[in-house]
Amino acid sequence: MPRTLDPATRQAIAARLRFYRELGLTELYRRPVDPAPLQDLPAALSQDALEDSVLRTTTSHEETKAIPARKPAPDQTEDRESSLRIIREDIGDCTRCALHKGRNKLVFADGSPQARLMFVGEGPGADEDAQGLPFVGRAGQLLNNMISAMGLKREEVYIANVVKCRPPGNRTPEPEEANTCMPFLLRQIDVVRPEVLVALGATAATYLLGQRQPLAGLRGRVHSVRGSRLIVTYHPAYLLRDPRQKKEAWADLQIAMRELGLKLPPRG
Ligand code: SF4
Repeated sequence: MPRTLDPATRQAIAARLRFYRELGLTELYRRPVDPAPLQDLPAALSQDALEDSVLRTTTSHEETKAIPARKPAPDQTEDRESSLRIIREDIGDCTRCALHKGRNKLVFADGSPQARLMFVGEGPGADEDAQGLPFVGRAGQLLNNMISAMGLKREEVYIANVVKCRPPGNRTPEPEEANTCMPFLLRQIDVVRPEVLVALGATAATYLLGQRQPLAGLRGRVHSVRGSRLIVTYHPAYLLRDPRQKKEAWADLQIAMRELGLKLPPRG
């Protein structure tokens, strides 16, 4: 018969699992527990045993022998989707920084968890805040055009921001706000594991690289961030204000295309 846990034990297990996720341990497995021996044990010990079986992450030789080999995942889509869902759940109705006060909708991300290419912007604007999606306003339209110029579809890439709530008046996020929100973005990068990251603007470049430098000194080079290659270019909102820089941005995107092994699309 399936064993039902009492609410206190369920809460304790859920809290422990949350703690492990905060540490970045998401690869937990559940080992079936034989109910018969459990029935003979004192309740507290039974709960410990059950909790232990759910939470165990050790790889000692003896225990490895007892654990059936993990089946190769035929498709990692579900893994990545559920890992991203867990990050979103951890963020919750976030009040960790002051930006929550003016938020209409929290903007988590958009696109494919399997993306080879990920764009990182600064933060949501008014349209994004209203819809709960990144890059859906005029700057988003330009980003869509940039993506299709690369021969890709928006659904094929992954798009997120340094902060997930709109800074008032579209101001640059304060360091405290960006530093508070960044761990979630880094977790998203670790799940999606894009081959190439494109930092859109100085704020994204600063927090991804962990150093503040003028954009000019960061463009035109391939950086390395969390196992991905990083290209730095202008934010589409800046390109709307100064369209002359579009040519420069296109040169940056061509570096990204080269890193991804993409061919330049034929001229239309
Ligand atoms: Fe939380 Fe990030 Fe929004 Fe700040 S910006 S409230 S850390 S989700």
